[in-house]
Amino acid sequence: MRSWRRRNSRCPNGLQVEGRAAVGRIVAGVTASQVLLDAAVALDADAVLVHHGYFWRGEDGRVVGIRRRRLATLLRHDISLFAFHLPLDAHPELGNNAQLGRLMNWSAEGRFGDQDVGFVGRTPDAPGAQQVAERLGSALGRPATLVGDAARTVRRVAWCSGAAQGWFEQAIAAGADLYVSGEISEQTVHLARESGVPYIAAGHHATERGGVQALAAHLREALGLDCRFIDDDNPV
Ligand SMILES: [Zn+2]
Repeated sequence: MRSWRRRNSRCPNGLQVEGRAAVGRIVAGVTASQVLLDAAVALDADAVLVHHGYFWRGEDGRVVGIRRRRLATLLRHDISLFAFHLPLDAHPELGNNAQLGRLMNWSAEGRFGDQDVGFVGRTPDAPGAQQVAERLGSALGRPATLVGDAARTVRRVAWCSGAAQGWFEQAIAAGADLYVSGEISEQTVHLARESGVPYIAAGHHATERGGVQALAAHLREALGLDCRFIDDDNPV
């Protein structure tokens, strides 16, 4: 899920920029940043595979500045760009939310939010919210931000990767004892305090590394492609 407020989460999914016809080597990453594109060039990749691609609905479409440089890199080197946004959040096995649930040992029982992208499920041991935040921090390699009732017992947890803090009320309506997403906004804190349901921001980038890595592994196994993940680290 990307920037629910600042940017539409809709974009073309699949092939966004066409490069050479045959694909043997793929460089995968969370976002099609210039760093990732430069790595793909250095590795002589045929294609780049990401969660956050280009051409977001409502975006200024002019090919200038950063956008020109990124597209020029792909076109000059005949490298394709494949991007999967909401489908890679929502996929029941390879998606970001499925992978986060697996990492945290949360058993998914249902879905919520726009196009059922969010997951809701059970914790195995009814930990406190503070304990969940600590576990997320160590599992994802970055400290998680917890707001609201840190002592609340978490049996039912709702989660959605990325910038899905705007679905907090829908998570509460789904009966969650805790809601976990990647980013946090000012009003998220008040909602957590006033609803009694704590909220954890575990990192947008950190919660969205799982899907593209699972898809890369699938492409290696199913198609025998040379598909490598490159982490262009992001503190948000
Ligand atoms: Zn995202």
